[in-house]
Order: sequence, then structure tokens, then C-alpha cells
Amino acid sequence: MKILVIEDEHKVAEALKEGLEHESYAVDIAHTGEDGFFLLNSKQYNLLLLDLMLPGRDGIEILKTIRDKKLDIPVLILTARDTVEDRVLGLDSGADDYLVKPFAFPELLARIRVLLKRGKEKQTSRLQLADLEMDLIKRKVKRSGKDIALTLREFDLLEYLLRNQNQIVSREMLAADVWKETNRATPIDNLIDVHIARMRRKIDDPFETKLLHTVRGVGFIFSEDTP
Ligand code: CA
Repeated sequence: MKILVIEDEHKVAEALKEGLEHESYAVDIAHTGEDGFFLLNSKQYNLLLLDLMLPGRDGIEILKTIRDKKLDIPVLILTARDTVEDRVLGLDSGADDYLVKPFAFPELLARIRVLLKRGKEKQTSRLQLADLEMDLIKRKVKRSGKDIALTLREFDLLEYLLRNQNQIVSREMLAADVWKETNRATPIDNLIDVHIARMRRKIDDPFETKLLHTVRGVGFIFSEDTP
């Protein structure tokens, strides 16, 4: 389980990292909203611990951007602010939970466990973008209510794109995460492009709204909006 901590106070961030690593979580730290956002876009996390008072973009702005981009990560706010208005603002902006500093570490751990469990349940059964739906249990894909038959590899590829929807996915990411090809000496870009083209014929060509877009020189983005 991987946790991202966005916290500008170095001492607090280090203490969190140490405590969480002791509980066997993998932890990355970002000291600014910008760094945090970069990490969120480039790596997969199971949970975000977000401080509200940050230099530059504050926590609420980061949270709103995350939810606007439909990133489905559970967010736990950690903050010294403890007025009712602040709590409401945090939760309204898309936080899943709220903890006021100073807090007891066991309480933080308990809340993290709840959020991770909830996130897991939510993650497993269904993925969707626009009228395209994927049932992960039955391993079925439908678009506009019509069944689409995919090969095993196409299914995995589509699942990855759905999980990372509205974010740019590079061929390198696909090679590592879908093909599990970590050896950079054997580029499989052509293989990826062939699978992408075949999948596109099935999930996009018969439909008016295109979801899979090529971003020249970078990779692909799975989105309702044309980049
Ligand atoms: Ca702070």
C-alpha cells in the first residue's frame, strides 16, 4: 500500500513517513502542492495525506483539482485548522476524512485503515468512462450498452487506461505496467501501438465520441475531452 504525504513542515513529514513505514506502508513525501501533484500524476497511490496550509497552492486547491480530474484516490486531510467551516470546506472539496493536528498516531492509523479498505472495495468491481463500462469481476466491457469482445491483453490495456483516465499514459508506463516489460533494452512500442490500434477499432471506431486519444511524442490519454 502506497501513501503520498503532502506536508510542507519537514519535521512533521519525516515523522509521518517514519511512523507509516514502520507499519509497512510505502511513503513518498512532497513539500509543496506542485511536487505533490507531479507525483500523483506520475505514480499510483492508494491514499493521500494532505496538509491544508501549504505555500503556493494550498490543500483545498489541490483537492479540488484532484476531484476535477476525477482521480479516485482517498484523501485524508491533516490540518491545524479546526473550525467547523474548515471541516465543511474540506469535506465539500472532496476529502474523505479529516484529522486535526495534533493527533494521536494510532488514531491516524485507524483512519488510514478504514480509507484503504473502502478504497479497495470501490476499486475492484467496476470502471467507467462516459458510456464505456468495464465489469472487472465478470471481465466484460460494454459501450452504449453493447457488449464488446476484447482479447485478454486488450482487456488489461483498457483496464489500465480506465484506471488512469484523464491522465497521459506513456508507452513506457504501458510496457512496465501492462506488459510487465521492465527491460528497456527491448522496446515494445510497435507491439503496444498494434494493440492500441486494434482496441481502438473495437471501442472507439463504431462510436461518435472518441475516448482514446494519441498524444504525439508522449503517449495516450483516455478521456471524453480531446487533448
Ligand atoms: Ca503546513
